[in-house]
Amino acid sequence: DLLVNQIAAGEVVERPASVLKEVLENAVDAGSRAIEVQLEQGGVRRIRVSDDGCGIERDDLALALERHATSKIASLDDLERVGTMGFRGEALAAISAVARTTITSRATGASHAWKIDGDDRSLSPAALNAGTVVDVADLYYNTPARRKFLKSESTEYAHCDEMFRRVALARPDLGMQLSHNGRVIHRLPAGEADRRVAALMGDDFLAHAREVHAEGGPLRLTGFASLPAYSRASRDAQYFFINGRYVRDKLLTHALREAYADILHGSRHPAYVLFLELDPAGVDVNVHPAKIEVRFRESRAVHQFVFHAVKRTLAESGA
Ligand code: ADP
Ligand code: MG
Repeated sequence: DLLVNQIAAGEVVERPASVLKEVLENAVDAGSRAIEVQLEQGGVRRIRVSDDGCGIERDDLALALERHATSKIASLDDLERVGTMGFRGEALAAISAVARTTITSRATGASHAWKIDGDDRSLSPAALNAGTVVDVADLYYNTPARRKFLKSESTEYAHCDEMFRRVALARPDLGMQLSHNGRVIHRLPAGEADRRVAALMGDDFLAHAREVHAEGGPLRLTGFASLPAYSRASRDAQYFFINGRYVRDKLLTHALREAYADILHGSRHPAYVLFLELDPAGVDVNVHPAKIEVRFRESRAVHQFVFHAVKRTLAESGA
């Protein structure tokens, strides 16, 4: 019911950027090739995500807004190796409890689209070529106590931009666009990883970075790590992905700091965009609702692997 969902929303929907995270991940999970994000007023006034993915059948639209309704787990066994981003089936329920939410979607093969209104769950025919449009307006309009905790438009926008960057860095194979208050901020064609990294981190980063490519048993690390000559690095320029999922993890941050220990001094930070791939059974991503922290089965081995891979890459370059 609404109250339960509003309470659940506290965990999932901390701010506009957390709405954007969930809705973007759904678009990725739907097998989209292109995703467009439109924000108004830092995402507080509106977050609209349009995709060209598989869409949602008419009869599943109401279900998508129910708590614990997920199409992504067929059995308990699946929980062990979740390949998709979302799997808790509560994001849309939580979001629609605290914002004016509509979903317009045309399932593959359907003759036209349907639109559901999150308030009264009414369904009406709609026009859409393909995919899904999730529109989330007036966040916290019905929970003023929460609304008070929202920061300025520019701060909320910055968090949304960061969330967009994480997905865009992880998925260079998808065309992605972000606009804010009608102005296009990022227009990213689908393509190679290095072009995506240059578009989001700057050509300067790429010019002062080494490509990382390491394999060790079930572990694989790829991406880019900055050389000491790169001077603009801040902690905001540190991106680490595990199996395509952005994480900020103490163990990994430590391994990176150690790898740079001999070449970066004082308060300077490395910059990196790194992708670790491993058997999903070897990592638990279900530690926290925000799914940013992780637990490794073989944490020592992971730490050593990342540390050596980055240190070796930097040493080869003569850094
Ligand atoms: P979860 O992602 O954990 O399954 P959500 O509440 O985020 O839960 O979404 C509920 C369901 O709605 C999903 O399992 C999926 O079936 C459907 N859905 C949501 N967004 C999309 C989308 N953009 N394209 C296709 N299906 C979607
Ligand atoms: Mg989801």
